[in-house]
Parts: sequence; C-alpha cells; structure tokens
Amino acid sequence: MTGARPLLVLHYSELWLKGCNKPFFISKLKTSIEQTLEGLPVRLEGHVNERMVVSAQTPEAAQEAAARLQRVPGIEFIGVGVGIPPTLERILAAGLESMRGKDFHSYRVRAKRASKQLPFRSLEVERQLGALIGEQARAEGRDVRVDLSNAEATCFVQATATEAVVFTDKLRGLGGLPTGTAGRLMCLLSGGIDSAVAAYKIMRRGVRVNFVHFYGAAARPGEESPPIAREVVRQLTPYQGLSRLFLVDFDPIQRHIVANAPDEFRLLLYRRFMLRISEKLARGHRCHGTITGDSIAQVASQTIANIEGVNSVAKMPVYRPLCGDDKQEITAIARKIGTYETSIEPFTDCCPLYMPRNPRLFASIDELDAVEAQLEADHMIRQATMSLLREVYEYRMGKVERKSVKQYVVAAKDISPVLAG
Ligand code: ATP
Ligand code: MG
Repeated sequence: MTGARPLLVLHYSELWLKGCNKPFFISKLKTSIEQTLEGLPVRLEGHVNERMVVSAQTPEAAQEAAARLQRVPGIEFIGVGVGIPPTLERILAAGLESMRGKDFHSYRVRAKRASKQLPFRSLEVERQLGALIGEQARAEGRDVRVDLSNAEATCFVQATATEAVVFTDKLRGLGGLPTGTAGRLMCLLSGGIDSAVAAYKIMRRGVRVNFVHFYGAAARPGEESPPIAREVVRQLTPYQGLSRLFLVDFDPIQRHIVANAPDEFRLLLYRRFMLRISEKLARGHRCHGTITGDSIAQVASQTIANIEGVNSVAKMPVYRPLCGDDKQEITAIARKIGTYETSIEPFTDCCPLYMPRNPRLFASIDELDAVEAQLEADHMIRQATMSLLREVYEYRMGKVERKSVKQYVVAAKDISPVLAG
C-alpha cells in the first residue's frame, strides 16, 4: 500500500509516569531502546500519549526490532503495524488489509483518536471497519462474529492529527521499569539455574545488576565454572545493555575453611564469605546490596535458620527474589529468558572434596560466629580481593561483546575488618 510505513507502537506502563519523575523515566527508556535497536534500519520517533513510535524501513526490520524490544524493561507491549495518513478512507483500507488472511472466529476493532480535529470519531471507525472486516471474512466463506470483550483477533487503530497507526499483532513486552531508574545491586551468580533468574527478576525492576562469581578447582577438565558464568552474563546483558562480571578465585578460602572448620558448617561459611566479598565490591561500585538465588528450603543451606545464620554477616540488604518460588516456576522463567540450557551444563564451582558430607540443617548465628572466630577471615578475604578479574559486557548492534577484562583490586578502604560488629 503506498504511503504505509512499517511501525511499532510501544506502550509503557503508566504507573511510573505519575509525578515529576516522568522525564527521567522516559529518558532512561529512550536510551535503552536506542541501544537495543542499534544497527537496524529503524528510528525511534519520540512519544505521544504514553506511546513511543519506532518507524522501520522494511517489515522485516520492524519484526527484528520488535523481537529485540521484548527484552527491554519498561515496555508493556509492542504493536507491530503500519503508519498511514489519518483519513477515514486510508484507515479502513489499512485495517482491512491487516486482518486479511488471519484465522479468527471472533474479532473486534479498538479505535482511539488523540486529536479532536480529526473529521471522524473513534466509534465511527470501529463500526465501519468492523462491518468491512466481517464482510471480507464472510466473502471468504468464514463464519465470524464481533466480540467486544474476548475477541480472538483485534484490529487497533490509533490516530493523531498527523498519522494513524493500525496494528493487529500485539506482543507482550517485559513490563517492569526502565534500566537505570532504580540504582545498582551486586548478584551472587553461581552459574546454576536460580541465580540467573534472580538477577533477571531484579533487572526488570530497573536495577542495573553487577555479577560476582566465585570459582574453585574443577572436578574434571572442561568443567570449570567461569565459562558458564560468563555465558549466563552474556545471555542476561541484552536485558540491561551493560554488565560487569567479577570473577573471584575462591579455592584458597575453601581450603582454609575445610582445614579449620567442622564439615557440617562449610557451606554456610562459604556463603558468608561470598556475601562479605560481594559487599566489598558493592561499595566500590555504587551498589546498595546483594541479590542471591536462594529459595526457601530448596537445599540444606537454604532453610530459614541457615539463611538467618548466613545473612547475619551482611551489612547491606540482601535480596532473595526467588525465596517463595518453586523450582518449576524458576525453571520456566530460565527457559523463557534463555539461560536454562547454559545453567544445566555440568560444572563445578567447588571441588567435590570440599563439599560437606553432613551439612547442618539448622545452624545458629552464634555457632557460625564461634566457628568463624577460629578462621583468618580478614586475611583470607583481603587475599581474595587483591587479584580478581573484572569483565565488562556490552550489548551493541544486537550482539553482546566482551569489552574489557581487567585485573581488579578492591580498594583498601572497602576492606573493613570482617569480624567487627
Ligand atoms: P543456583 O541454582 O543459582 O546455582 P543453587 O541451587 O546452586 O543456586 P546454592 O548452591 O545453595 O543453590 O546457592 C545459593 C545461592 O548462593 C545461589 O543462588 C547464588 O546466589 C549463590 N552462590 C552459590 N554458589 C555461588 C558461586 N560459586 N558464585 C557466586 N554465587 C554463588
Ligand atoms: Mg538454588
């Protein structure tokens, strides 16, 4: 059709538009959208009435743009359609065209007019276009009926003074809040299923997530955990544009704990050390807490007593977004976001010899503090934070690239005596 251009209409949640923060949220969302669409023959064309419009040179580019935008937090849904001059004649023609060949029994037309200057009313569009769509389908020998509340196919028309947009395909966006509107957190990323999903859930809320992974000796060659953690970070980076991953050699700490603490407390002590190191990194990177993939009672270290015992060393808030989720629910999200296949690859982040044979189900804070008093916690943590790797991943031109790898030393001021307080 001449003069029809492929368009996407992005609807964002109106909840966060209340109050004077609106320009801040909109500008963050625009930044994410522009970065996500980089390299495609498409253009973001500002926003009207709580909608953003992206124009595309070809329908294929519009499809690819829509697929990428489904990973941008802050977008509720994406309409994929065409833009045309806002005349009733053109709207009826485009609406009919958009419903041609679609398989439906019930249908409806939803029209909205943003300008009172337009020489037709929304109801007129809905009635006339609705009648034409019915005739078109019946002429093809199909039995169709209008259903305003529960239609199988909907033709949306949104008209402004300068352009009308017509679309039938409405894709669900990620929802949530735009990246960078809610500050930063560190995530303890194991490479398993849970922590990747925990990070994703928090990213959706507009938080930029930095990752820290602790690795030990692999059980077998080829089962090292850092490649898995890196791959998970790659898969999560399109959701936030840029990720930092810290890789910490945990082997010396594990050896120290194995040599100096009873078997039954090992795992909980590992977690305490991880939390503390995460907080050191958090302080140097303007993060306000740590995310973990804990789910209540999923494994021995995650009974509520043990979570309390581990958590007691934290000075910053610890977010456990999966604490009330079942494994099936977590797995379903992992599949949806694309981390599942990587997370089930075999790896060892801890030498099997260092795993406890009889982990305690209910350890108290006092017991853990007493065992820890026998360890050289300060020294071990200082050693671990003296030489870690910091990698930066960025989403550019539709691909995730590793931008830099650096040796990283945690600033001395961030290494406080761990057992104080
Ligand atoms: P996941 O499924 O994410 O691997 P898990 O089921 O292995 O978690 P645990 O081993 O008890 O459960 O770990 C609980 C949480 O502790 C993880 O979700 C993660 O946040 C953190 N964690 C565990 N191991 C590591 C690690 N090697 N590096 C960083 N964080 C870790
Ligand atoms: Mg788990």
